[in-house]
Amino acid sequence: MPMRWLAAFFTVAMAAPLMAVTVVTPARTTEVFSRADLIDLLEILRLTGAEVEFAPAAGSYTARRAGHEVQFTPGGSLAVVDGRLQPLPGPIRSLEGHTVGNLAVASALLAPLGWAVHGDVGSGLILTPAGEAAPITLAVTREGGATVVVASGPPALPRARPAPGGLALHYQSPVRLATPLALEGGLSGASVDGSILTLQLVPGWEVAASYPLDDPPRFVVRLASAFPTGAAEVQRSGPLVVIDPGHGGEDQGAQGAGGVLEKTVTLAVARLTAERLRAAGIEVRLTREGDETVALRDRTALANRLRADAFVSIHANASPARGARGAETYYMSADASDPQAAAAAERENAPAETTTLGLILWDLAHVANLNSSARLAREIQDRLNAVHGIATRGVKQAPFVVLTGATMPAALVEIGFLSHPEEGQLVSQPDTQRRIADALAAGILAFLRNAPPPAPAEQP
Ligand SMILES: [Zn+2]
Repeated sequence: MPMRWLAAFFTVAMAAPLMAVTVVTPARTTEVFSRADLIDLLEILRLTGAEVEFAPAAGSYTARRAGHEVQFTPGGSLAVVDGRLQPLPGPIRSLEGHTVGNLAVASALLAPLGWAVHGDVGSGLILTPAGEAAPITLAVTREGGATVVVASGPPALPRARPAPGGLALHYQSPVRLATPLALEGGLSGASVDGSILTLQLVPGWEVAASYPLDDPPRFVVRLASAFPTGAAEVQRSGPLVVIDPGHGGEDQGAQGAGGVLEKTVTLAVARLTAERLRAAGIEVRLTREGDETVALRDRTALANRLRADAFVSIHANASPARGARGAETYYMSADASDPQAAAAAERENAPAETTTLGLILWDLAHVANLNSSARLAREIQDRLNAVHGIATRGVKQAPFVVLTGATMPAALVEIGFLSHPEEGQLVSQPDTQRRIADALAAGILAFLRNAPPPAPAEQP
């Protein structure tokens, strides 16, 4: 992901005349003015059915509902609730013709009127009568041999914890199931107790991955049978590797000094690497065969579906520092190993998908694969070191979205800096690309040769 994408993202955010947060009430879904963590308090109050009146002489507002009233003044941080003065958790301000406050202030104004607000301003809000549970919709689908459960509704995403016979999703406030549940594949039931939704698994099934997604906020739980039933896609004789040419289609990736595009370089290197691996008898699938747009999560989803033995994502780096150069190999971590690694992950993660990163939850599958991912990254990086003319920066860890959710050893390679005047030239040349592909293939083969056979110990 080149810097200009991020720059464009932030420019749009700052220049936009209006930013709005989606608010869901029992009656409707609408948008309310918001800016940073501030929301339009009058609109929020009116959505509860409260009458809001302005008294020009006092410059104050009064909201009335169900026999209660709350009075407040822009510029102050106090409210008069049913005649009693109360401090608010923050100031009420006037902003571009709107009367705004943060979520805590909104919550304090709503409470005396019998309403509660859930969620956060960044991803969406739900307004409910106080004490009423927020509805959750569970969508259950089969994907190859796996069962995918998507929980959507409350904008505040849950924390997932193992529970007897399944997985418990801990929400921040009470929830309820909105629709009858379709029991499919590995899901045998779901129950709600207060703010905890528990998914029950069919014996022999396990949680392969669980992670939040944005737009709209939802939580995904991927279930896999501990005893694969031999679906057509997973029947094969030898190892299978999924190679991911970074970017593609509308997402051009980084751009080199000579105009060369990252998406073009990564596809060329991926094709050459696949050629080398196939010659060695390895089955290979690419996440894109041409210049196509492919979502980050669909890239690992393919590898998961195929039960690949390794997933390698190929990228080329860019830096505003023209001197930056060298190849580096990453494996997934919730924390970056250094500030440069953090910056690389930030560049590669699509803006729309970064906001969930802080919430990424790790299940046992990831932990089991962490050591083998580190070994895959090392085998690759060791051989990249031998590619003439490309400096090396070593093996690093960072939270790359494209690596999250992979249920097999996974690594991301930055084959060099397109932004470096000489290295950018080098990685665009077919001859260097062949040497890089040789190194990647040799590293992957070395990894597969020493990979332990799939054993129950590798399963969570
Ligand atoms: Zn990239």
